[in-house]
Amino acid sequence: MKNYNSKQTGAVSILTLLGLKSLSQRYLVAMLVVSVLLCTFAYFAWQFVRSTNQAQLNQIQNRAEATDAINDVSEQVHVIEVSLLRYITLPSQQHKAHIQRAYRLYDAAIIKLLANNWIKTDKSLQDLLMAMETDRRELNITTDKLLATREDETKWFPAMHIMQDRMYRQNRQFTTTLNYLINDVSGELNNPVNLKTYQLLIEIRHSWELMVAEFRLFVSNSFGIFSNNPENGMQARRINTEMYISSLDGLLNQLQQRAKANKIDGLNKSAISELQKQFNEWKKSYQSVLDTFNQGRWRYDLVILHKDVEPVLDRILQRASSLQLELGVASAKDITRVTGVAQSLSNSVVYITIGLSLIGFLGYFMFHRVILLPIAKVARALKNEVLTPHTDQSHLHLSDAREILDLTNAFYEMREQIRSRQEHLDHMAHHDSLTALPNRVLLRDRLSQAMARAKRDDKMVGLMFLDLDRFKQINDSLGHDVGDRLLQQVSSRLSSCIRATDTVARLGGDEFGVVVENVGQADQIAVLAEKILSSFTKPFQVDNHELHTSTSIGIALGPNDDNDVDSLIKDADIAMYHAKDQGRNDYKFYSAEMAAQVARHMRLETQLRQAMDNNEFVLHYQPIVSLVTGQITSTEALLRWQHPERGLLAPSEFMPVLQDSGLMRPLTQWVLQQASAQYLRHNQAGFPQIRMAINLPGLMLHNDAILNLIISTIEQTRIDPTGLLVEFTEDTLLESLVDSKKALVTLRDMGVHIALDDFGTGQSSLSHLRQNPIDVVKIDRDFIRDIPADKYDCELVDAIIAMAHKLHIKVVAEGVETSEQLEFLRHHKCDAIQGYYYSSALDGDKILALIRQNQPMTLVRASH
Ligand code: C2E
Ligand code: CA
Ligand code: CA
Repeated sequence: MKNYNSKQTGAVSILTLLGLKSLSQRYLVAMLVVSVLLCTFAYFAWQFVRSTNQAQLNQIQNRAEATDAINDVSEQVHVIEVSLLRYITLPSQQHKAHIQRAYRLYDAAIIKLLANNWIKTDKSLQDLLMAMETDRRELNITTDKLLATREDETKWFPAMHIMQDRMYRQNRQFTTTLNYLINDVSGELNNPVNLKTYQLLIEIRHSWELMVAEFRLFVSNSFGIFSNNPENGMQARRINTEMYISSLDGLLNQLQQRAKANKIDGLNKSAISELQKQFNEWKKSYQSVLDTFNQGRWRYDLVILHKDVEPVLDRILQRASSLQLELGVASAKDITRVTGVAQSLSNSVVYITIGLSLIGFLGYFMFHRVILLPIAKVARALKNEVLTPHTDQSHLHLSDAREILDLTNAFYEMREQIRSRQEHLDHMAHHDSLTALPNRVLLRDRLSQAMARAKRDDKMVGLMFLDLDRFKQINDSLGHDVGDRLLQQVSSRLSSCIRATDTVARLGGDEFGVVVENVGQADQIAVLAEKILSSFTKPFQVDNHELHTSTSIGIALGPNDDNDVDSLIKDADIAMYHAKDQGRNDYKFYSAEMAAQVARHMRLETQLRQAMDNNEFVLHYQPIVSLVTGQITSTEALLRWQHPERGLLAPSEFMPVLQDSGLMRPLTQWVLQQASAQYLRHNQAGFPQIRMAINLPGLMLHNDAILNLIISTIEQTRIDPTGLLVEFTEDTLLESLVDSKKALVTLRDMGVHIALDDFGTGQSSLSHLRQNPIDVVKIDRDFIRDIPADKYDCELVDAIIAMAHKLHIKVVAEGVETSEQLEFLRHHKCDAIQGYYYSSALDGDKILALIRQNQPMTLVRASH
């Protein structure tokens, strides 16, 4: 196969370099690459998500554990704090145990945290935990200290012993002394001095009692009793206490003054000093208590709690919340990481979607470029080829892909095939295959062009129609091969007669046409016709046959005869038929009279059809008489047309038209039936030996048509076949020798007699007589007419009779009109005669009457 496409198209040349010649290979490779890329990406994405997932799960678990542990720490810290507080309130072994347990749990939580993977990864977290352990140790020490302090009363409430050991005693001694004095004074109250002292003492006692009461309230308040606001209460109590102290200071001072002024007896003076002393002592003690209070040593256990324990606890809680915070931060980081993964995954999905879309578009682009476009181009090229064949000489350069190359190559193959076939068809459509001459179509074309030119140049166009004379006989007798080669030779002879500018065409069969251009005068074309006719005088040599043929030429001149192609062709055709009719081997110019004749012919044909329908045909019968017995041996049925206007017409008036009309077959059937009926009449009249001769159109003998007609007629009419005698001409034998012989043999086998009509006029051949089952030959009237005057005819008739008799064939002479003719024929042993001498053709009744007379013909009439 020729490769029409060698040009490379850029984009796919890489693929070509890779050795991928076909589209399917390229597609597969591209798909493979894309699939591998996608699979790799998917694998790594899957791995990534899986590992991230696992890491996240581990982290979550670690942090959950850490959270638990941190919560534990905080909880234990609270447990310690609460237990300590409870212990401070009520030192019991149960609270102590709680504290111990909390320590253990705390330690366990810390150990857990130290083992936690999340914490292990971070140094600062580990440091934080170490600090928490240190805190734990410190807490241990401080709580131990607190517990020990709480257990020692003097340590946890230092003011107690001041009040118990000193103030209690001072109070008792003061009140005892005071009561003594009051008792002492109350005995001598009628002494106004004493009364005054007494009143003073009472007042002192009252103030003392109030002072001690206020102080007690102060102490109580310092334990948080009796007041919603102990701070304010204590302040008020202190102020009150100190108010009573200064009041007592004043009252004791008055008492001293009275003593100095001797208003009090001497004994009691020492008691008053004692009062003063005890009061001063009490004040000192009070100051000491106040000092412990003001110096924050009121409850030492609380001091330890606040100053030593709580900071440690707070620190621990702070560190725990730091850890908690770190946890939160780490979780937030994890969440960020997870969302990051999700984000990158969704990004990837977007990228992949974009990528796939791009691949899709690229794929479509490539598909369009590599497949659709070439297909569209090939389709367009095909369409162009169909619409405007042979115009597009361009070559398609589509792709180097094998499939597309195959497609384009197939297209070129097809285009070449189509073109060559088209050319072939064109030639076939315009030329004759046998002779290679232009055909009727091309002749018409050339003729119309020639007519256009003639019009322009004011010239004439000659159109000749030629028909070979008796070509059919040659064809039938010698075979189609010989006929064909004769036609070829004829065509080359014709071509040699004309100029290059003229056209010889074969119109079909043995018909030819010649277009002669540039004709000035009719003479010119007559000369050419003569030339053609004379070119046929030389015989044609085909194989070892020397063939003689002539031609009949009809000539029409455009635009003189007609101005359009169709009419001119018709004219030439008419002229040609006339040339044929007028004896062949001649040329005839078309004339208006010819056309009129054709019109007549057509009119006659129409009338014939009507005649058929109207039953205007009749048969007349002419007797044939034996020259031996003088008796009628047979009658010949002869067709007549009882024309409504023209009267009785003989066959010569209508037979040629009838043969062309297609009415021959039905008419023959009618003749057969009619003649058979007449034969039956003769038969019934007692003359079965008189045969009925019927003329058969030769054309019908070489197919089964006539045979079937005869057979069916015999069957219908039930006549004896031996009573029938069929006549046909020599031409019939020539037309189709084999078929005719077959039919004749069948007829003969049935008992039908056979006569060869018009003997001597056609291409007579002795072999015809010998080979065919012929009973009778009828010598044509032409040969009888001039005997015995014409010596040549006499010899010919004599020879025919002798020859026929040699072949055991009977001889009938036609057209015998005179006794001389009769005499000659009788003398030369002719078997029978037919002619006006005895009788012309008579209608059915008359012939029957003639037969009935049964009068023998006078054989010797010397007087004639
Ligand atoms: P044919 O078969 O040769 O018939 C003999 C012709 O010679 C007849 O002419 C007849 O009238 C004529 N004839 C007979 N004796 C004489 C004579 O002494 N002198 C002259 N001058 N003529 C004589 P007809 O009837 O006009 O027939 C002409 C031709 O028409 C026949 O020639 C035959 O070929 C054909 N024909 C007649 N009838 C039929 C028919 O029924 N079928 C067919 N196919 N052809 C028929
Ligand atoms: Ca005849
Ligand atoms: Ca005849």
